[in-house]
Amino acid sequence: MPAARVEIKASAELKRVMAAYYEEIRQAAEEGKGKVAWCTSVGPAEILYALGFRVYFPENHGAMLGAARLSSSLIPAANSIGYSPDICSYLTSDIGAYLKGETPLKKAYGLKSIPRPDVLVYNTNQCRDVQDWFSFYQREFNVPLVGVSTPHPVPELGEAHVRAVEAQLESLIEPLEKVAGTKLDTAELRKVVALSRECSDLWGRVLRTGAHIPSPISFFDGCIHMGPAVVLRGRKEAVEYYKILLAELEGRIKDGVAAVPGERIRLYWEGMPVWGRLRDLSELCISLRACFVVSTYCNSWIFDELDPSRPLESMARAYTKLFINRTEQIKEAYIRELVREFKVHGVVFHDSKTCPNNANSRYGMPRRLAGAGIPTLTFNGDLCDLRLYSDAQVRTSLEAFVEQLTGSAGAQEAKGRGQERP
Ligand code: SF4
Repeated sequence: MPAARVEIKASAELKRVMAAYYEEIRQAAEEGKGKVAWCTSVGPAEILYALGFRVYFPENHGAMLGAARLSSSLIPAANSIGYSPDICSYLTSDIGAYLKGETPLKKAYGLKSIPRPDVLVYNTNQCRDVQDWFSFYQREFNVPLVGVSTPHPVPELGEAHVRAVEAQLESLIEPLEKVAGTKLDTAELRKVVALSRECSDLWGRVLRTGAHIPSPISFFDGCIHMGPAVVLRGRKEAVEYYKILLAELEGRIKDGVAAVPGERIRLYWEGMPVWGRLRDLSELCISLRACFVVSTYCNSWIFDELDPSRPLESMARAYTKLFINRTEQIKEAYIRELVREFKVHGVVFHDSKTCPNNANSRYGMPRRLAGAGIPTLTFNGDLCDLRLYSDAQVRTSLEAFVEQLTGSAGAQEAKGRGQERP
């Protein structure tokens, strides 16, 4: 009988850090203590923090709506004003919540509503939906909307790509200074980029603990603990938090504490999370003794190009080099490398209906990986809209996949033992 699952102790600190982050936003929006910029999750947050904005990320709100299982009742409100049920369910959940005057931020962090933006800032490096999403709020609030249109999809990152994005980042500065009522201080921007890089490096080290057997962290833990890497990169609070989390995970490795007690199968999660089913899927994996030890999704907030000595240029590199913005060939090579590094037995693709941008099973990749000897499973679902997700189907296919992998892992092990015999 494997040992019971041990909770990550840093979760209490995570709650405190996230509450303090939202309290700053509340004070800006409700008490006039600062300006609020809305930013896409891989948008130019460093420029915004360097200008003194409180930075709010609507995708984090979308994920909260999904995790609270509110999306299915909110999406129809967005559909009723013309936003298709087929487009991003973060977008439709968020706009639906706005139209119905609902938000989990009230109960969780004491905000009266989502914070009114002073400016909206996007980067299309992840998808076009973010621009259309922010355009809705530009019309609602009548505030400036600025952003970066990133070349997509990018093969090898070339100087032309970097120059094009860097020039767009530069052109954001003047309109953002106008809203902020202050000039961008280059020394401050360097400081923020340095903190962002430090956060990113620590987050990368946190995720790489998953390469250890058994893994001290699962993909589902990563989805919870990635909050500061998304909303507070560029701030010292995120750096401090990941030092605490990393120390705990390294301690787990030393003490042999596994995220999935008795881990026997190691999996790769490819695609968006199913926010409303994180707990259920985590419990299912624990019962199967299968651990999702690595994912492209959590890795997306590792920005190893950020360099405070070249702030804008390095931001252009980091934010254009993003996995979601790359060609199929680059994505496949990236996944193969992680499968090797994390000693993964099989790759599970979540074909998220409303996020084709981050559903990587649609152009033959599972077949190609299988052809290269990497077992794969694809299931249909969605990041937020649980009407597109079947508990029974996912459970059955995951159980069967793990059983198949357990059989072949056992056979490999036996073969290995046989080869060791004199
Ligand atoms: S990448 Fe997918 S989930 Fe994220 S905003 Fe775009 S469509 Fe939505």
